[in-house]
Amino acid sequence: MIKSIINQFIIKITPFLPRWIVWKIAGRYVAGETITKSLEVVRQLNEKGFSATVDILGEHTKSEAEADEITRDYLKIYDKIFQQGLDCNISIKPSHIGLDISNEILQRNLDKLLSKAEETHNFLRIDMESSVITDVTISLFKRCYEKYQKVGTVFQAYLYRTQTDLEDLSQNGSFNFRLCKGIYKEPPAIAIQRRRKINSNFIKLLRFAFEKGIYVGIATHDLELLESAYALIRELNISADKFEFQVLYGVPMSGWLEKHLKNNFKVRVYVPFGKDWYAYSIRRLKENPNIAGYILKDLFRR
Ligand SMILES: Cc1cc2nc3c(=O)[nH]c(=O)nc-3n(C[C@H](O)[C@H](O)[C@H](O)COP(=O)(O)OP(=O)(O)OC[C@H]3O[C@@H](n4cnc5c(N)ncnc54)[C@H](O)[C@@H]3O)c2cc1C
Repeated sequence: MIKSIINQFIIKITPFLPRWIVWKIAGRYVAGETITKSLEVVRQLNEKGFSATVDILGEHTKSEAEADEITRDYLKIYDKIFQQGLDCNISIKPSHIGLDISNEILQRNLDKLLSKAEETHNFLRIDMESSVITDVTISLFKRCYEKYQKVGTVFQAYLYRTQTDLEDLSQNGSFNFRLCKGIYKEPPAIAIQRRRKINSNFIKLLRFAFEKGIYVGIATHDLELLESAYALIRELNISADKFEFQVLYGVPMSGWLEKHLKNNFKVRVYVPFGKDWYAYSIRRLKENPNIAGYILKDLFRR
């Protein structure tokens, strides 16, 4: 109850705070506004032993020109990653590169990204947005996978449908996906609401993936969940080349990242950047009030 009031209070006041104050809070989780700055952060992460994936902040692009510009920026990023020899791929949101405008624009931009990924020997991750577009995203992933296998998508443990989706996809063999809890506010009819139940579904899905030999990006900051993932890896004796851990840039992990590296487990840091950081931070805060709580907790911890 008190937690919810505090979260709501932060959400209400944030839009009235000066940009620089919001940056003080959000800046910890965002790698600057430019490609150069974000790749500098990637280079520093690589030097510490972490892989990375970059994401240009933003979603629900409304104009073709803007969707094309975002696509061009991602193409540039692929080139720069290649030229600079960075250990980094990219994560894109379908609604950022044209989904809300037209299918034709989306497919055209996605095809450009796939070709560039292939040319630069890189990987493309299609992030999962809200449940309204889960079907579309899975279809896009399948279509991309037919053309180029170094592509992956994301599944959310809070959705009841995820088990079936994974079973369907696994019928055609192995693939690569990121498993996360899910960040969007979804109704109880389609999504598990309680943290404990989401966590147990997460582990059930992870077990399924491991048993099928599917490559998983285990994306969570939940330390209890990480303990359970470790237990599962031990129980099933899963080889370290069948999974990686993934975290969002800037989220404190109480020594777990170093622990992963010590165990020779790959860790990939999701590095968001871009000029849309302000609108994005505010939108995300409104969408999921728990983020307000994380920020507050983090500020006090510091
Ligand atoms: C690499 C990566 C990629 C993701 N991609 C997607 C995606 O494509 N689609 C999607 O729906 N969701 C995505 N997510 C978000 C995910 O679904 C969860 O909403 C988010 O990670 C919080 O869940 P959690 O597993 O960390 O557990 P929680 O129980 O929510 O959090 C555990 C603890 O982690 C800390 N924490 C968690 N998130 C944050 C944060 N944002 N800022 C500060 N502290 C935090 C808090 O201390 C919290 O107590 C991604 C997450 C990661 C790590």
